[in-house]
Amino acid sequence: MISSITSAALLIIVFILFLGTIPALILWDHRQQARTATKLSQDIQPCTLCHEQRAGLKLHQTALTGLLLAANYKYFNNYVCPPHARALYSQFQQHTLLKGWWSLHGFIRTPITLLENLSYFKQYMQALAANTSNTPK
Ligand SMILES: [Zn+2]
Repeated sequence: MISSITSAALLIIVFILFLGTIPALILWDHRQQARTATKLSQDIQPCTLCHEQRAGLKLHQTALTGLLLAANYKYFNNYVCPPHARALYSQFQQHTLLKGWWSLHGFIRTPITLLENLSYFKQYMQALAANTSNTPK
């Protein structure tokens, strides 16, 4: 009887702590993203896909394929122009959304990968905005 009450209390404490970490994590993520965006906005190279000289910023994307007992990851991590960044983001998200779920590992990793891709794309767009506001016209 006592042990069930203590374990229930422990569970509630853990749950409250867990709820408290969510806003802390969101705040930390926003701060981290802003910091990365300003850092990334200074790092410009031509687009690796079309070799155009305009602002090519670094984009990271992951495509996940679930293979029943295994999972396959395909990474992209290079400098791209804004139109190619949008195309890559949509391509990698579609691939993961359709093919990511088909394994136990993929079932857990697919939502995480989708959020990671979204986060990296948001960083890219923030860096782009920071870059266009920095350069005088
Ligand atoms: Zn391009």
